[in-house]
Amino acid sequence: MLKSIYGTKDILPKDIGKWNHVETIVKNIFTAFNYKEIRTPLFEETALFSRSIGEETDIVSKEMYTFFDRSETSVTLRPEMTASVVRAFIEHSLATQFSLNKLFYIAPMFRQERPQAGRLRQFHQFGAEVLGSASPVLDAEIIILAFTILKSLGLKDITVKINSLGIASSRKTYLEVLKKYLEPHLNELSEESKKRFEKNILRIFDSKSENDILIMHDAPKLIDYLDEASKDEFETVQNILQKEHIPFVIDSSLVRGLDYYSKTTFEIVSGKVGAQSALCGGGRYDGLIELLGGAPNYGVGFAAGIERIILALQNEETALPEITPLDVYVVLLNKDLLNEYYLFANTLRKKHFKVEIDYLSRSVKAQMREANKLQAKYVALFGGEEFSENKIVIKNMTTSSQQVVPLEKAGEEILLSVGG
Ligand code: AMP
Repeated sequence: MLKSIYGTKDILPKDIGKWNHVETIVKNIFTAFNYKEIRTPLFEETALFSRSIGEETDIVSKEMYTFFDRSETSVTLRPEMTASVVRAFIEHSLATQFSLNKLFYIAPMFRQERPQAGRLRQFHQFGAEVLGSASPVLDAEIIILAFTILKSLGLKDITVKINSLGIASSRKTYLEVLKKYLEPHLNELSEESKKRFEKNILRIFDSKSENDILIMHDAPKLIDYLDEASKDEFETVQNILQKEHIPFVIDSSLVRGLDYYSKTTFEIVSGKVGAQSALCGGGRYDGLIELLGGAPNYGVGFAAGIERIILALQNEETALPEITPLDVYVVLLNKDLLNEYYLFANTLRKKHFKVEIDYLSRSVKAQMREANKLQAKYVALFGGEEFSENKIVIKNMTTSSQQVVPLEKAGEEILLSVGG
């Protein structure tokens, strides 16, 4: 039997209600903040990701789905969205149309990671990218957006962690200090961290090894080496978050795995999803647009994982919609009236009721069972004695009350009854 690929998941009809619910809230909140949706291709030239995310990152060095297509071009299934959005921003000169572009997306991503709870090879993210402003107000807005969406979905046990990475020049001074601090400990570090020491030293902060964590606990902190402007901007971000009543902690070890971050970085973690606790992460990435060939400009954004959010909601026992109930189930009493029955149901559908009928020639009893299973609010009994007078029986499934109404008035009667 053919099966889905390891680390990928079907989203079945029984679960789609949860996904629709998340997507509706995401879209409503982004719309309220006037963010516009962007959709980009699932795959891009490999160089886009290797250049922007960084050769030394886990994503580029071991997780990308990269292959040669039939014309020998190296292409990659997108592992994240920022690089694609920035590529589209440059390619379509979006900066000339609007000086500030506030964009959002909801889209699948691909990373060849070891699957576990909350970690898949095809997963889905929603996120935002704001291109065109250095204002720290937008750093705060990005955090507010992410937090507001997670709260609106009903998550309770979440923590916002923030940090500032400063600008490249202040970071360079700090990296030297960190190197000096780590040199005497080099032999005690895990093998992975030894490699990172050479290639991407900041990432030693991401190590899961207990001994590495102990060593990093006493390491000098990047936040103490910030340039004045970054320090002021970080203050502004914190000030706005406080006024917005967003609870946050400063986590100086929050360095994030991607090379292109500068200044504000943040993560929102859940206490309810085990090892893979990060629900969302993001920050400022001034410099990326120029790195990818555009005119120098500013960017800030975040991405959140939908599977992990749904998992956290389930673990917090927050109720999520399963199936949306039906408005009307039309039961056919007389099989000779099949065509009329079908056409009648469609008149209700055209009035925007959610309607189901029997396509399987089932008994009346079986049709009633189906109506219950689909949680129909009303059942319309089509083709009984009253049909000769062009009438139909409508039953309210909550109150069990029944009324006989003219066929052409059925929709209005249901609406009236719903209203009442
Ligand atoms: P990142 O782009 O790595 O910062 O990830 C942003 C968010 O996407 C994370 O906080 C997760 O919620 C989600 N995410 C990242 N990788 C995976 C994965 N392999 N499976 C499921 N969700 C993921």
